[in-house]
Amino acid sequence: MCGLFGIFDSSKDKEVARLAYFALYSLQHRGQESAGITVSDGEKLTTHKGMGLVSQVFSEPVLTGLTGYVGLGHVRYSTTGSSNLKNAQPFEVTTRHGLQLAIAHNGNLVNFDRLCASAGITEPTTSSDTELMARLLQNADSTDIEQAILEMTRKIHGAYSVVVMTPDRLIAFRDPCGIRPLCIGKIDGATIVTSETCALDIVGAKYIREVEPGEMVTISKEGLVSKIISHETRRAMCVFEYIYFARPDSIIYGKNLYHVRVNMGRNLAREHPVEADIVIGVPDSGTPAAIGFSKETGIPYDDGLIKNRYVGRTFIHPTQLMREMGVKIKLNPIRDIFENKRVVVVDDSIVRGTTSRKIIQLIRESGAREVHMRVSSPPVTHPCFYGIDTATRSELIASKASMEEIRQHLNVDSLGYLSIAGMVQAINIPHDELDLACLNGKYPVEIPEALQELKLIFK
Ligand code: 5GP
Ligand code: MG
Repeated sequence: MCGLFGIFDSSKDKEVARLAYFALYSLQHRGQESAGITVSDGEKLTTHKGMGLVSQVFSEPVLTGLTGYVGLGHVRYSTTGSSNLKNAQPFEVTTRHGLQLAIAHNGNLVNFDRLCASAGITEPTTSSDTELMARLLQNADSTDIEQAILEMTRKIHGAYSVVVMTPDRLIAFRDPCGIRPLCIGKIDGATIVTSETCALDIVGAKYIREVEPGEMVTISKEGLVSKIISHETRRAMCVFEYIYFARPDSIIYGKNLYHVRVNMGRNLAREHPVEADIVIGVPDSGTPAAIGFSKETGIPYDDGLIKNRYVGRTFIHPTQLMREMGVKIKLNPIRDIFENKRVVVVDDSIVRGTTSRKIIQLIRESGAREVHMRVSSPPVTHPCFYGIDTATRSELIASKASMEEIRQHLNVDSLGYLSIAGMVQAINIPHDELDLACLNGKYPVEIPEALQELKLIFK
């Protein structure tokens, strides 16, 4: 999972690096491993990237040095084993025709291995499918970059929302299923392409539309030009964006994520009602659904768990003692809110079940009389091969344990998950326009067997 932000400022009066910087701040939830920005003054590209949060990678002098009118920013999600500066994006190459380009990607290619072999990349310097795309473009026969991209999209399979930047243009394109989000916005004299609308809000831009599945959009001094690159589109938007990933203030396919999640909580309450004294959400991702659950049942909502928003991803490893404290570093209960209460705990999803178990333990230790767990998504039973790090199949608790076994593992008095039908109703876009693979195993883009077994994730 990653976040993208591209800007083409035809008025040439904005500090594009600074706008990209603030936009990346708003996309920080999409990736905390590394951050980078490439700018161009029309002649040449300059990139600055590094490991860590946007605030750790960029400083005032660095931003001041990044001048130009075209910009491309990226934040990258962390995956174990591949936390490496070489994987940081944007990825810069010069093609064999002498064109400098930078590429940034959100998604995951499922035919990475086979393509590496056929592209003659025996030892990729990174474990990144973005590098593979950069190499394919670098070695393309065509001198025309759009043609080169078009040819590349005939070869790559999987989820890709990509922005390519050359010295004088931005080219954004999306896979035929549109698995990962990508939208277009405008701010006087400039055009933007970005992963989420919250990044448009923060720079004061207006939302225009989505980049459509199978569409390529070129933004240059000639304006915005759209081309269809795939006629075999089948919209399959990742449902996990709605459940957990995207920010609640973002809008995807016309649906505001906050309202979608409140509705998920309402439907959850209808499907799994329970007698209780308070409803608590697990911050931050469980909060809107908990509010919906409370609205539907009339059971009062309260904040019982306080999240430390400054912990984030740290390079300092906790000591063993702190590790045993576990989730307390991030979440601390307000004890007297739970004391002697029948509590409904609402969270957006359960993946491995480890965090949830610890949270329940904290709530029990705070004196709750009963704890009822409600989950505002259906059980996650299948791994994601399109860019969300939802673990391997065997790690997914719902892939191997029964409802009763999960209830016992979490140590709750009752457990209820939202149904697929209840979730789709809350999202309110047609069932067959969603990628529900993590919930039902029906993958919109075929997964090669080797990948299914290894569950290799390249981001
Ligand atoms: P679990 O109990 O499965 O260990 O953790 C469940 C929690 O993980 C939920 O609060 C959910 O919001 C969160 N979660 C779900 N998917 C992801 C993810 O991809 N990354 C992170 N950091 N948290 C996730
Ligand atoms: Mg959460």
